[in-house]
Amino acid sequence: MALRIYNTLSRRKEDFVPVKQGKVGMYSCGPTVYDYFHIGNARAFLTFDVLRRYFEFRGYKVDYVQNITDIEDKIIRRVVENGEPIKALTTRMIAEMYRDFDALGIERPTHDPCATDYVPQMLAIVKLLQDKGLAYRTEAGDVNYAVRKFPGYGKLSGKSLDELRAGERVAVGDGKNDPLDFVLWKKAKPGEPSWPSPWGDGRPGWHTECVVMSLDLLGEGFDLHGGGQDLCFPHHENERAQAVAVGANQSGGERAGPAIGELHAAPVAPAPRFQPGQYS
Ligand SMILES: [Zn+2]
Repeated sequence: MALRIYNTLSRRKEDFVPVKQGKVGMYSCGPTVYDYFHIGNARAFLTFDVLRRYFEFRGYKVDYVQNITDIEDKIIRRVVENGEPIKALTTRMIAEMYRDFDALGIERPTHDPCATDYVPQMLAIVKLLQDKGLAYRTEAGDVNYAVRKFPGYGKLSGKSLDELRAGERVAVGDGKNDPLDFVLWKKAKPGEPSWPSPWGDGRPGWHTECVVMSLDLLGEGFDLHGGGQDLCFPHHENERAQAVAVGANQSGGERAGPAIGELHAAPVAPAPRFQPGQYS
């Protein structure tokens, strides 16, 4: 009997059919390593571990990517509180995370990329989005994604822009053209960790790392992309907005592949692999 998985985009369970016979490429959004992980994180890690093991039991060769967010506002706040270098905090929390993985009997993912190792690729996709007219620089120096310019925005959550705005009760601010616009590149405040960019020193927004890591490590059109259900909006909607916008012109369309679901997921379009300098 076929394994059936809920596809968030189509809103129904679908038979799992691998893109490549005998193989499964799966991605799930991992933790932000500013503290120990909590029971809700553990639930997500365990669920994907069970799924991965089941695929292996069925004879598939599984390539499983779970990223690590090691640059983010919460991390920056915590290192200021602790008075320690950012790398000291994130290295310690990654070690603690795997200690807890071992205690819970969760296998390591095949790849566990850190966001800070993918800054050049993130810069490449932000530049590409800007070139396509989907991103704009604010007066404050951030670069935002213009959700109104992407016709499919809201498709994954199943809501219109108006419904999403009402649900989020978001206020216009931070120089955004639309309250739902999200940050792709954030200007650094003095003393914050930063990387040079065409828009000035700053750091990547959270929603871009998973796009470049998944495409780099799993290639075009991989099988499953999941994460906690709370990530459906805005994180996965925003991931999808970037991947589809970039992929549409590169390979001519969108692949609405099966996605993990009760668990939730963001189908990913075929898109180029993001290598450093590819779009520079
Ligand atoms: Zn993600």
